[in-house]
Amino acid sequence: QTSNAALLKRREASVPRGVASAAPIFASYAENSELWDVEGNRYIDFAGGIAVLNTGHRHPSVVAAAKAQEDRYTHTSFQVVPYEPYVALAEKLNALAPGDAPKKTLLVTTGAEAVENAVKIARAHTGRPGVIAFTGGYHGRTLLTLGMTGKVTPYKKDVGPFPSDIFRAPFPDARNGITVQDALNGLETMFLTDADPSRVAAIILEPVLGEGGYVPVPTEMWIALREICNRHGILLIADEIQAGFGRTGAWFAISHSGVVPDMITVAKSMAGGYPIAGVIGRADIMDALAPGGLGGTYGGNPVACAAALAAIEAIESEDLLARSTALGEIFRARFAEIGARTAPYRMWDIRGLGAMLAVEFVTDFETAKPDAALTKSVIAHALKRGLILLSCGMHGNALRIMVPLTASDAIIDEGLAIFEAALADAIA
Ligand code: PMP
Repeated sequence: QTSNAALLKRREASVPRGVASAAPIFASYAENSELWDVEGNRYIDFAGGIAVLNTGHRHPSVVAAAKAQEDRYTHTSFQVVPYEPYVALAEKLNALAPGDAPKKTLLVTTGAEAVENAVKIARAHTGRPGVIAFTGGYHGRTLLTLGMTGKVTPYKKDVGPFPSDIFRAPFPDARNGITVQDALNGLETMFLTDADPSRVAAIILEPVLGEGGYVPVPTEMWIALREICNRHGILLIADEIQAGFGRTGAWFAISHSGVVPDMITVAKSMAGGYPIAGVIGRADIMDALAPGGLGGTYGGNPVACAAALAAIEAIESEDLLARSTALGEIFRARFAEIGARTAPYRMWDIRGLGAMLAVEFVTDFETAKPDAALTKSVIAHALKRGLILLSCGMHGNALRIMVPLTASDAIIDEGLAIFEAALADAIA
């Protein structure tokens, strides 16, 4: 009989501490929105493996599709012998992406790799080097994407220098007093001081800041960025890796604004738990690199492609976009109630889009300083009581909701009751 403590000890001796785990438990089994550890303890999962499980753990049709594919072939490398699941997934993604222009899709394995490739394609298409990203943005842990990521600790600490020609613009965040106009003024100043717009290939932005705190991009910002990009011949990239595939109540979160980007990066919930990612974009842009310029041994693995096709089908057939919107309303209402009842003036700024929702913990009503310690304590108490939670935000004081959209109302209720009890423990 193995225990969490025994495994933790082995893990500490064998795995670098840099890869941190939020929960000191080890998984044994998981189904939909529940998980059991190696000691048989049950947890409700509001973290979804960092927004990967919009269709839940081991969705039956995702697992069936992956198993059927495993019985035929699991790897040929698309660059050696191509296969239909890659093409079928590309066709599906091209059809789902917003905008009327013909599209093409490149498949890779991780989100960071998708972002790297979007930048390569933008550079090849425009013949320009520059990339503009935003404060608080998160785009991955490879050196290019770390350079684009707008938060130092823990990601960028001690591992620079980062690639050149990456510029950072202010993210419009009303919470910190930065209006859309302030953000646009910052960008225009940057064009004068650092980044010649005629040398900028792409502007990349998450439609809802993910790791940065679940802050949605205001529609006016998207409209202004589209106009700026058109004026300067810059490509607009939406990083939908965390926000896509139903999390916000739409296939792609940028669709809430009506703005059509030139490229979209996708990963996470696209395949319900299998490692696959992609870049969807206008066909003329996506063809910028010559044959051999894109790819990777595992890119678009056939088992992951089959899983992704089934996960997308499940989002459609189970109407999970509507479920996301409904869940967002439930969480908003319940968070407001719980905050008022159990932690007056300590929980505020419930925000997000659809079920991509977060709430912040603060020290007190007057100063409203971010309270990362309270956030950590709520998460630890919740785990003891059987609920997996994850924080986010520049100050580590936002709690984000990434529960499977397939979770039943009963599970959501049970999870929220545990959350309220954990909050009471933490402020006691
Ligand atoms: N972009 C966004 C918006 C993300 O949320 C993430 C992962 N949290 C990434 C990129 C990087 O994805 P991966 O961890 O698969 O490399």
